[in-house]
Amino acid sequence: MDHIKQDKLRASLSLDLDNEWSYLKIQGNSRWESLPTYFPVFIPYVLELFKRLQLNVTFFIVGQDLTIPENIPYLKKIIEEGHSVANHSMNHESWLSAYSEEQLFHEVYETDSLIRKHLECKPIGFRGPGYSWNPKLIRILREQNYVYDSSVLPTFIGPIARWYYFKKSGLGREEQKKRKNFFGKFSDGFKKNKPFHLNGDGRKLIEIPVTTMPVFRLPFHLSYLIYMHGYSPFLMNTYLEIVIRLCKTFRIEPNFLIHPLDLIGGDQLASLDFFPGMDIDSNKKTKVFYKVITTLQTHFRLMSLDSYVLELIAEGRMTID
Ligand SMILES: [Zn+2]
Repeated sequence: MDHIKQDKLRASLSLDLDNEWSYLKIQGNSRWESLPTYFPVFIPYVLELFKRLQLNVTFFIVGQDLTIPENIPYLKKIIEEGHSVANHSMNHESWLSAYSEEQLFHEVYETDSLIRKHLECKPIGFRGPGYSWNPKLIRILREQNYVYDSSVLPTFIGPIARWYYFKKSGLGREEQKKRKNFFGKFSDGFKKNKPFHLNGDGRKLIEIPVTTMPVFRLPFHLSYLIYMHGYSPFLMNTYLEIVIRLCKTFRIEPNFLIHPLDLIGGDQLASLDFFPGMDIDSNKKTKVFYKVITTLQTHFRLMSLDSYVLELIAEGRMTID
């Protein structure tokens, strides 16, 4: 029995804590500049949900949110509930791939200092906004004692997702140009779907890509599953079963990504009710989440992304220098 338990693959969970203003910023809506926050509604809601499912999750936090005093007690609750926090950049700008070394340093360092100051812990993971990544990050992250990055989405459909997003948003040509790598490049589909080492300037960092469907490289994060569920619950269940089967065949331990709007609807966040998918109410989204999580639980040992990386290191499967 013990042997079977040991053999069970793991799956890691993380949530990108994009706030109300970052969603507005992504859309090119100038209302973002006053930094509206939905943490007082969202954080207690999501913590209760995770508690009921006994989940341990790594929350990727945007530094800018730690400059708003109103947010601090809510962010502290995440730590008090036993979850971990990681770095999701300072300004949540999806054109991070075009940043200079100095700008990148600022994006990582400012958030890191704010997390240490207000939440009294040291993040070990980083994720770029909108799957944007920059090779200069390897050295910058290692110098600040980061262990892993989790920005890569190995899918071919990034350019299609971007085209759709531009079409739906009110962004002008200049704004679109800035976001030209948003959702990644076609070649990202050839990147590894399993943890790998990134090497840069003699430094080594661990990359944990956001898992996509093995072989076909289609997205598998919660937003995509919710979207499918809108068409047909049967389609989503079948898709989920196929992804799980393929992951087990190829011994891929899924890195499962959650976004706030996957869990909460326009019924609770009226200010974002014009967003795609916000017409689905929170109850329905929660039901889909329960279904996905309980299915994953029967096949994998679920844990936070931070714990997963630390286990890989402890087992000697991944190393840092
Ligand atoms: Zn984000």
